[in-house]
Amino acid sequence: MTIPPLNLQAEFREIRSALIPRMRRIFTSGRYILGSEVSQLEKDFARFVGTRYAVGVASGSDALLLALMAFDVKPGDEIITTPFSFIATATAIVRLGAKPVFVDVEPDTFNLNPDLIRKKVTGRTRGIVPVHLYGNPCGMDEILKIAKRFKLFVVEDCAQACGATFRGKQVGTFGDFGAFSFYPTKTIGAMGDAGALTTNNKKLYEKIKSLHLHGQMDHSYHHPLIGINSRLDEIQAAVLNVKLKHLAKWNKKRRDAAERYHRLLVKDGLSSPQRRGPTKKGTGNTSCLSPFLSVPVETPYGKSVFHQYVIRTAKRDALFKFLKDRGVSAAVYYP
Ligand SMILES: *Cc1c(COP(=O)(O)O)cnc(C)c1O
Repeated sequence: MTIPPLNLQAEFREIRSALIPRMRRIFTSGRYILGSEVSQLEKDFARFVGTRYAVGVASGSDALLLALMAFDVKPGDEIITTPFSFIATATAIVRLGAKPVFVDVEPDTFNLNPDLIRKKVTGRTRGIVPVHLYGNPCGMDEILKIAKRFKLFVVEDCAQACGATFRGKQVGTFGDFGAFSFYPTKTIGAMGDAGALTTNNKKLYEKIKSLHLHGQMDHSYHHPLIGINSRLDEIQAAVLNVKLKHLAKWNKKRRDAAERYHRLLVKDGLSSPQRRGPTKKGTGNTSCLSPFLSVPVETPYGKSVFHQYVIRTAKRDALFKFLKDRGVSAAVYYP
Protein backbone atom coordinates (compact mmCIF):
# COMPACT_ATOMS: atom_id res chain seq x y z
CA MET A 1 0.00 0.00 0.00
CA THR A 2 1.17 3.48 -0.88
CA ILE A 3 -0.19 6.46 1.00
CA PRO A 4 -0.87 9.27 -1.50
CA PRO A 5 -0.53 12.96 -0.66
CA LEU A 6 -4.05 13.53 -1.85
CA ASN A 7 -6.88 11.29 -3.00
CA LEU A 8 -9.27 13.13 -5.28
CA GLN A 9 -10.85 9.91 -6.54
CA ALA A 10 -12.06 9.18 -3.02
CA GLU A 11 -13.48 12.67 -2.79
CA PHE A 12 -15.25 12.18 -6.11
CA ARG A 13 -16.90 8.99 -4.87
CA GLU A 14 -18.42 11.02 -2.06
CA ILE A 15 -19.97 13.65 -4.37
CA ARG A 16 -20.63 11.56 -7.45
CA SER A 17 -24.36 11.03 -7.01
CA ALA A 18 -24.98 14.74 -6.44
CA LEU A 19 -22.65 15.85 -9.20
CA ILE A 20 -23.59 13.71 -12.19
CA PRO A 21 -27.23 14.92 -12.56
CA ARG A 22 -26.05 18.50 -12.16
CA MET A 23 -23.49 18.05 -14.92
CA ARG A 24 -26.12 16.50 -17.18
CA ARG A 25 -28.34 19.52 -16.59
CA ILE A 26 -25.56 21.92 -17.58
CA PHE A 27 -24.57 19.94 -20.66
CA THR A 28 -28.13 19.91 -21.98
CA SER A 29 -28.89 23.52 -21.02
CA GLY A 30 -26.41 25.05 -23.46
CA ARG A 31 -25.56 27.69 -20.87
CA TYR A 32 -21.89 27.28 -19.97
CA ILE A 33 -20.74 30.70 -18.81
CA LEU A 34 -22.23 32.91 -16.07
CA GLY A 35 -25.42 30.98 -15.44
CA SER A 36 -27.33 29.91 -12.37
CA GLU A 37 -24.57 27.67 -10.95
CA VAL A 38 -22.18 30.63 -10.79
CA SER A 39 -24.72 32.98 -9.20
CA GLN A 40 -25.65 30.34 -6.65
CA LEU A 41 -22.01 29.71 -5.80
CA GLU A 42 -21.32 33.42 -5.40
CA LYS A 43 -24.25 33.72 -3.00
CA ASP A 44 -23.47 30.58 -1.02
CA PHE A 45 -19.73 31.15 -0.92
CA ALA A 46 -20.17 34.67 0.46
CA ARG A 47 -22.50 33.25 3.11
CA PHE A 48 -20.07 30.44 3.96
CA VAL A 49 -17.10 32.78 4.34
CA GLY A 50 -19.13 35.49 6.04
CA THR A 51 -18.84 38.41 3.62
CA ARG A 52 -21.52 40.39 1.80
CA TYR A 53 -20.18 39.57 -1.67
CA ALA A 54 -18.24 36.96 -3.60
CA VAL A 55 -17.26 36.92 -7.27
CA GLY A 56 -16.22 33.76 -9.08
CA VAL A 57 -13.12 34.15 -11.25
CA ALA A 58 -10.94 31.88 -13.36
CA SER A 59 -8.23 31.07 -10.78
CA GLY A 60 -6.67 32.05 -7.49
CA SER A 61 -3.90 33.81 -9.41
CA ASP A 62 -6.50 35.92 -11.21
CA ALA A 63 -8.27 36.63 -7.93
CA LEU A 64 -5.05 38.18 -6.58
CA LEU A 65 -4.41 40.07 -9.82
CA LEU A 66 -7.97 41.43 -10.03
CA ALA A 67 -7.91 42.55 -6.39
CA LEU A 68 -4.75 44.57 -7.05
CA MET A 69 -6.25 45.91 -10.30
CA ALA A 70 -9.26 47.12 -8.32
CA PHE A 71 -6.87 49.33 -6.33
CA ASP A 72 -5.21 50.56 -9.56
CA VAL A 73 -1.84 49.19 -8.49
CA LYS A 74 0.74 50.58 -10.92
CA PRO A 75 4.49 50.85 -11.54
CA GLY A 76 6.28 52.49 -8.62
CA ASP A 77 3.84 51.13 -6.04
CA GLU A 78 5.15 48.90 -3.28
CA ILE A 79 3.14 46.00 -1.91
CA ILE A 80 4.22 44.26 1.26
CA THR A 81 3.99 40.48 1.21
CA THR A 82 5.69 37.28 2.28
CA PRO A 83 8.56 35.61 0.43
CA PHE A 84 7.28 32.21 1.56
CA SER A 85 4.31 31.35 -0.66
CA PHE A 86 3.38 29.99 -4.05
CA ILE A 87 4.82 32.28 -6.73
CA ALA A 88 1.39 33.63 -7.75
CA THR A 89 1.29 35.92 -4.70
CA ALA A 90 4.35 37.87 -5.80
CA THR A 91 3.75 37.67 -9.55
CA ALA A 92 0.31 39.28 -9.25
CA ILE A 93 2.17 42.34 -7.92
CA VAL A 94 4.95 42.17 -10.50
CA ARG A 95 2.54 41.81 -13.42
CA LEU A 96 1.15 45.26 -12.63
CA GLY A 97 4.65 46.73 -12.58
CA ALA A 98 4.63 47.17 -8.82
CA LYS A 99 7.32 45.98 -6.44
CA PRO A 100 6.78 43.18 -3.94
CA VAL A 101 8.45 44.18 -0.68
CA PHE A 102 9.18 41.03 1.26
CA VAL A 103 8.80 40.89 5.02
CA ASP A 104 10.24 37.80 6.68
CA VAL A 105 8.09 35.08 8.18
CA GLU A 106 7.66 33.90 11.75
CA PRO A 107 9.85 30.84 12.33
CA ASP A 108 7.03 28.82 13.87
CA THR A 109 3.95 29.62 11.72
CA PHE A 110 5.84 30.43 8.48
CA ASN A 111 3.42 33.37 8.08
CA LEU A 112 4.29 37.03 7.48
CA ASN A 113 5.69 38.42 10.72
CA PRO A 114 3.42 41.39 11.59
CA ASP A 115 6.04 42.89 13.89
CA LEU A 116 8.41 43.42 10.96
CA ILE A 117 5.92 45.13 8.60
CA ARG A 118 6.10 48.66 9.98
CA LYS A 119 9.80 48.99 9.18
CA LYS A 120 9.13 48.30 5.50
CA VAL A 121 6.37 50.88 5.03
CA THR A 122 7.45 53.79 2.79
CA GLY A 123 5.65 56.64 1.04
CA ARG A 124 5.11 54.30 -1.92
CA THR A 125 3.53 51.45 0.03
CA ARG A 126 -0.04 50.84 -1.15
CA GLY A 127 -1.07 47.60 0.43
CA ILE A 128 -0.34 44.35 2.26
CA VAL A 129 -0.91 40.85 0.89
CA PRO A 130 -0.70 38.38 3.78
CA VAL A 131 -0.86 34.67 2.93
CA HIS A 132 -2.55 32.22 5.29
CA LEU A 133 0.06 29.62 4.48
CA TYR A 134 -0.77 25.91 4.79
CA GLY A 135 -4.24 26.93 5.97
CA ASN A 136 -2.96 28.68 9.10
CA PRO A 137 -4.37 32.21 9.64
CA CYS A 138 -1.96 35.15 9.89
CA GLY A 139 -1.95 37.49 12.88
CA MET A 140 -4.66 39.73 11.43
CA ASP A 141 -4.99 42.10 14.43
CA GLU A 142 -1.58 43.64 13.92
CA ILE A 143 -1.78 43.58 10.11
CA LEU A 144 -5.11 45.45 10.13
CA LYS A 145 -3.80 47.93 12.69
CA ILE A 146 -0.80 48.79 10.51
CA ALA A 147 -3.00 48.96 7.38
CA LYS A 148 -5.32 51.41 9.09
CA ARG A 149 -2.49 53.52 10.50
CA PHE A 150 -0.80 53.91 7.07
CA LYS A 151 -4.00 53.77 4.94
CA LEU A 152 -3.00 50.58 3.13
CA PHE A 153 -5.31 48.08 1.50
CA VAL A 154 -5.22 44.44 2.59
CA VAL A 155 -5.74 41.53 0.19
CA GLU A 156 -5.73 38.22 2.04
CA ASP A 157 -4.33 35.33 0.03
CA CYS A 158 -6.72 32.61 1.25
CA ALA A 159 -5.80 30.12 -1.48
CA GLN A 160 -4.84 27.44 1.05
CA ALA A 161 -7.06 28.45 3.92
CA CYS A 162 -10.75 28.30 2.96
CA GLY A 163 -12.63 27.74 6.22
CA ALA A 164 -9.79 28.69 8.58
CA THR A 165 -10.72 31.15 11.31
CA PHE A 166 -9.12 33.95 13.29
CA ARG A 167 -10.97 35.07 16.42
CA GLY A 168 -13.89 32.94 15.23
CA LYS A 169 -14.22 34.72 11.89
CA GLN A 170 -13.19 33.10 8.63
CA VAL A 171 -10.21 34.26 6.64
CA GLY A 172 -11.29 36.36 3.70
CA THR A 173 -13.49 38.58 5.90
CA PHE A 174 -10.69 40.73 7.37
CA GLY A 175 -9.05 42.43 4.41
CA ASP A 176 -10.59 44.56 1.67
CA PHE A 177 -10.56 41.33 -0.32
CA GLY A 178 -10.12 37.64 0.33
CA ALA A 179 -8.56 35.87 -2.67
CA PHE A 180 -9.43 32.17 -2.96
CA SER A 181 -8.18 29.42 -5.23
CA PHE A 182 -10.22 26.36 -6.15
CA TYR A 183 -7.32 24.58 -7.82
CA PRO A 184 -8.06 20.85 -7.42
CA THR A 185 -5.57 20.31 -4.60
CA LYS A 186 -6.90 23.09 -2.37
CA THR A 187 -9.19 22.41 0.59
CA ILE A 188 -12.12 22.96 -1.78
CA GLY A 189 -11.12 22.30 -5.35
CA ALA A 190 -12.86 22.44 -8.71
CA MET A 191 -12.23 19.96 -11.54
CA GLY A 192 -10.12 22.50 -13.35
CA ASP A 193 -8.99 26.02 -12.57
CA ALA A 194 -11.24 28.31 -10.56
CA GLY A 195 -11.08 31.02 -7.92
CA ALA A 196 -13.09 33.68 -6.11
CA LEU A 197 -12.83 37.04 -4.41
CA THR A 198 -14.78 37.95 -1.29
CA THR A 199 -15.42 41.46 -0.02
CA ASN A 200 -17.78 43.48 2.15
CA ASN A 201 -17.30 46.62 0.09
CA LYS A 202 -20.02 47.25 -2.52
CA LYS A 203 -17.86 49.58 -4.64
CA LEU A 204 -14.99 47.07 -4.77
CA TYR A 205 -17.45 44.28 -5.54
CA GLU A 206 -18.86 46.21 -8.48
CA LYS A 207 -15.38 47.01 -9.73
CA ILE A 208 -14.42 43.32 -9.71
CA LYS A 209 -17.69 42.43 -11.44
CA SER A 210 -16.60 44.77 -14.22
CA LEU A 211 -12.85 44.02 -14.30
CA HIS A 212 -13.35 40.27 -14.68
CA LEU A 213 -15.59 40.83 -17.72
CA HIS A 214 -13.16 42.96 -19.73
CA GLY A 215 -14.13 46.08 -17.84
CA GLN A 216 -17.74 45.86 -18.98
CA MET A 217 -20.22 47.94 -16.99
CA ASP A 218 -24.00 48.42 -17.13
CA HIS A 219 -24.51 46.80 -20.53
CA SER A 220 -22.79 44.82 -23.28
CA TYR A 221 -20.07 46.47 -25.33
CA HIS A 222 -19.67 49.30 -22.84
CA HIS A 223 -16.19 49.02 -21.34
CA PRO A 224 -15.14 52.01 -19.24
CA LEU A 225 -12.35 50.00 -17.54
CA ILE A 226 -9.53 47.92 -18.98
CA GLY A 227 -10.23 44.51 -17.54
CA ILE A 228 -9.39 40.89 -18.26
CA ASN A 229 -11.40 37.81 -19.16
CA SER A 230 -11.55 35.85 -15.92
CA ARG A 231 -14.82 34.06 -15.43
CA LEU A 232 -15.79 31.02 -13.49
CA ASP A 233 -17.68 28.58 -15.72
CA GLU A 234 -20.88 26.69 -14.95
CA ILE A 235 -19.21 23.29 -14.76
CA GLN A 236 -16.64 24.36 -12.18
CA ALA A 237 -19.27 26.28 -10.24
CA ALA A 238 -21.46 23.16 -10.09
CA VAL A 239 -18.56 21.11 -8.71
CA LEU A 240 -17.96 23.79 -6.10
CA ASN A 241 -21.66 24.09 -5.21
CA VAL A 242 -21.70 20.38 -4.45
CA LYS A 243 -18.40 20.39 -2.56
CA LEU A 244 -19.18 23.49 -0.51
CA LYS A 245 -21.80 21.48 1.38
CA HIS A 246 -19.04 19.08 2.52
CA LEU A 247 -16.31 21.59 3.26
CA ALA A 248 -16.92 22.16 6.97
CA LYS A 249 -16.90 18.40 7.54
CA TRP A 250 -13.79 17.89 5.39
CA ASN A 251 -11.96 20.67 7.21
CA LYS A 252 -12.88 19.07 10.52
CA LYS A 253 -11.37 15.82 9.28
CA ARG A 254 -8.19 17.65 8.35
CA ARG A 255 -8.02 19.09 11.86
CA ASP A 256 -8.65 15.66 13.37
CA ALA A 257 -5.83 14.16 11.30
CA ALA A 258 -3.48 16.97 12.37
CA GLU A 259 -4.51 16.45 15.98
CA ARG A 260 -3.58 12.79 15.63
CA TYR A 261 -0.18 13.58 14.16
CA HIS A 262 0.40 16.06 16.97
CA ARG A 263 -0.53 13.55 19.61
CA LEU A 264 1.68 10.81 18.20
CA LEU A 265 4.66 13.01 17.44
CA VAL A 266 4.55 15.03 20.64
CA LYS A 267 3.79 12.05 22.85
CA ASP A 268 6.69 10.13 21.42
CA GLY A 269 8.90 12.98 22.51
CA LEU A 270 10.02 13.80 19.01
CA SER A 271 8.70 17.30 19.13
CA SER A 272 7.66 20.28 21.19
CA PRO A 273 4.02 21.29 21.90
CA GLN A 274 1.97 22.64 19.06
CA ARG A 275 0.23 25.69 20.45
CA ARG A 276 2.00 28.96 20.90
CA GLY A 277 1.40 30.77 24.15
CA PRO A 278 -0.49 34.06 24.06
CA THR A 279 2.65 36.18 23.88
CA LYS A 280 2.25 39.71 22.63
CA LYS A 281 4.98 39.51 20.03
CA GLY A 282 5.02 36.86 17.36
CA THR A 283 8.79 36.70 17.26
CA GLY A 284 11.28 35.15 19.59
CA ASN A 285 9.42 31.89 20.00
CA THR A 286 11.91 29.15 19.41
CA SER A 287 10.10 26.33 21.15
CA CYS A 288 9.24 24.83 17.76
CA LEU A 289 12.89 24.28 16.99
CA SER A 290 13.38 21.00 18.81
CA PRO A 291 16.49 19.06 17.85
CA PHE A 292 14.43 16.39 16.09
CA LEU A 293 11.43 17.95 14.46
CA SER A 294 8.89 20.72 14.90
CA VAL A 295 5.19 20.29 14.32
CA PRO A 296 2.80 23.02 13.05
CA VAL A 297 1.96 25.78 15.50
CA GLU A 298 -1.41 27.47 15.88
CA THR A 299 -1.57 31.00 17.26
CA PRO A 300 -3.91 31.76 20.21
CA TYR A 301 -6.66 33.16 17.96
CA GLY A 302 -6.14 31.14 14.81
CA LYS A 303 -7.64 27.82 13.76
CA SER A 304 -5.87 26.22 10.84
CA VAL A 305 -7.48 23.98 8.22
CA PHE A 306 -4.13 22.21 7.71
CA HIS A 307 -4.02 22.42 3.94
CA GLN A 308 -0.61 20.92 4.54
CA TYR A 309 0.89 19.43 7.67
CA VAL A 310 4.39 20.85 7.46
CA ILE A 311 7.15 19.82 9.83
CA ARG A 312 10.71 21.01 10.13
CA THR A 313 13.59 18.70 10.81
CA ALA A 314 17.35 18.85 10.62
CA LYS A 315 17.30 15.34 9.15
CA ARG A 316 14.97 16.19 6.29
CA ASP A 317 16.51 14.17 3.51
CA ALA A 318 16.95 11.08 5.68
CA LEU A 319 13.34 11.29 6.89
CA PHE A 320 12.15 11.84 3.34
CA LYS A 321 13.87 8.65 2.21
CA PHE A 322 12.63 6.74 5.26
CA LEU A 323 9.02 7.66 4.44
CA LYS A 324 9.40 7.02 0.73
CA ASP A 325 10.84 3.55 1.33
CA ARG A 326 7.70 2.77 3.33
CA GLY A 327 5.26 4.06 0.70
CA VAL A 328 4.37 7.29 2.47
CA SER A 329 4.24 10.37 0.26
CA ALA A 330 6.09 13.46 1.39
CA ALA A 331 7.28 16.57 -0.39
CA VAL A 332 9.39 19.63 0.26
CA TYR A 333 6.73 22.28 0.31
CA TYR A 334 8.06 24.75 -0.91
CA PRO A 335 11.67 24.05 -1.94
C1 LIG B 1 -2.64 27.93 -5.21
C2 LIG B 1 -2.19 29.24 -4.74
C3 LIG B 1 -2.37 30.42 -5.50
C4 LIG B 1 -2.82 30.41 -6.93
O1 LIG B 1 -4.03 29.82 -7.16
P1 LIG B 1 -4.38 29.20 -8.61
O2 LIG B 1 -5.83 28.90 -8.51
O3 LIG B 1 -3.53 27.99 -8.78
O4 LIG B 1 -4.09 30.24 -9.64
C5 LIG B 1 -2.03 31.62 -4.93
N1 LIG B 1 -1.53 31.69 -3.69
C6 LIG B 1 -1.33 30.60 -2.94
C7 LIG B 1 -0.79 30.75 -1.56
C8 LIG B 1 -1.64 29.34 -3.44
O5 LIG B 1 -1.42 28.25 -2.70
